[in-house]
Amino acid sequence: MPNANDIKALAQLMGGKVAKKEEELLHRAYDFAERAHEGQKRLSGDLYFTHVYETAKILAGLGMDTQTIAAGLLHDLLEDTQTTEEQIKKEFGDDILFLIKGVTKLGTLKYRGHERHVESLRKFFVAMANDLRVVIIKFADRLHNLRTLQFIREDKQKRIAVESIEVYAPLANRLGMGKLKGEIEDAAFPFSYPEEHKKIEEIIAQRKDGDQKCLMEVREVLEKELKKNRIKFDEIDYRMKHKYSLYRKLLKYNMDIEKIYDIVALRIIVDTVEDCYKILGLVHSIWNPLPGRIKDYIAIPKPNGYRSLHTTVFTGLGGVAEIQIKTKEMHAEAAYGIAAHFAYKEQNKKNRDDKSKFKWIEELKELKYMPNEPKTFIEHLKMDFFNDRIFIFTPKGDVIDLPEDSSPVDFAYSIHSDIGDHMFGSKINGKMSQIFTKLKNGDIVEIITKKDSRPSSKWLEYTKTNVARKNIKSYLEKNSLLSRLKSFGQK
Ligand code: MN
Repeated sequence: MPNANDIKALAQLMGGKVAKKEEELLHRAYDFAERAHEGQKRLSGDLYFTHVYETAKILAGLGMDTQTIAAGLLHDLLEDTQTTEEQIKKEFGDDILFLIKGVTKLGTLKYRGHERHVESLRKFFVAMANDLRVVIIKFADRLHNLRTLQFIREDKQKRIAVESIEVYAPLANRLGMGKLKGEIEDAAFPFSYPEEHKKIEEIIAQRKDGDQKCLMEVREVLEKELKKNRIKFDEIDYRMKHKYSLYRKLLKYNMDIEKIYDIVALRIIVDTVEDCYKILGLVHSIWNPLPGRIKDYIAIPKPNGYRSLHTTVFTGLGGVAEIQIKTKEMHAEAAYGIAAHFAYKEQNKKNRDDKSKFKWIEELKELKYMPNEPKTFIEHLKMDFFNDRIFIFTPKGDVIDLPEDSSPVDFAYSIHSDIGDHMFGSKINGKMSQIFTKLKNGDIVEIITKKDSRPSSKWLEYTKTNVARKNIKSYLEKNSLLSRLKSFGQK
């Protein structure tokens, strides 16, 4: 019999309200997995079943639907037990079998070294395009394995940790799952870069108390002012920067800790967008902001969808504090990202539009993997999908999501190949501009076409997207073939 308390814990993580039928499914999956894994142990000495149960708990915490959580409990059946696909299908149906098969496929990799990362990435992309829930189960599985990594052989520790940082974390980030990304990186950090990890821990220990004290003072003043001005807020708390992301940031600033202002930040959660701006105004009327550090990610979200207002202020006596202001909704989205959108299947069906927000997932399917050119493949992926992206607007206000440093040529081809092929010029923010100009986040771009304009090979030097390069090349090929045919005819 499943432990009633364990099921209760899952239900609690799911938000407490679980229908009878769903609870029954969880019971069955729990029972089935526990029996199938009976007698198997982890290297930690724990029962193997604890791993699948912890995986299910992570999924419940991410707000996933009951089927996904059940699949989390069952995810290692095909790989590690005698259970057959038929048995799973009979007991739990096609949907859950599909998820388990997907997770199993993601786990089996043939190659080693660099090849292995490429293969792992490619599998992720295929799985993602089919059903994102498969990828999210794999994330949860990996997170629990990272949390118990100390029991694994040392060379394996390093490989798993590095792969998590290079493959899993960037993907979680692209899916807007900030909480998961941070947790994966921080669990992998000590095993992938032990020295650096130790250094970061020291830095945090040195700075934390002072920073927190400074923020406490800011908080006190701010709370008083908010009440005086009758601006409602939901809560004010502190957030610590994740260790690995602090390390990355320090690398960017030559390890100069004085340049990092957000080891600890004050976070204000409110009900409405209007309140966010009201509070930003109030903050700036109390303290002077640092120039260049006011970020309006509400008007222009980060490429992964992150929204919030950030500002850094001088608090007097040499102190500096970062303040983040967001609504409850933005707060949840920043933590769960795509999981928040894809959590419930029903919702998913209704909101097909959500998919267009993640158009890049669809684009990934188009990329062909050449086994003899793994480096080129990974370079393409990195260029198109891992670097930060920018949002460019059409004059009508439609948003096109492009890699950084894209040009109007990329933009034109992202709208339609015909527009690209007949591009004559471009207007950026209302001004005529070179079609090779590097676009900036939030630019409004208008493409001017002419019937007899056509691409030239020079364009290839100024494009960042595969879609543009592919189209330009195929246009050029077609035409050189045509002109050869013509000259052949003349002979
Ligand atoms: Mn597993």
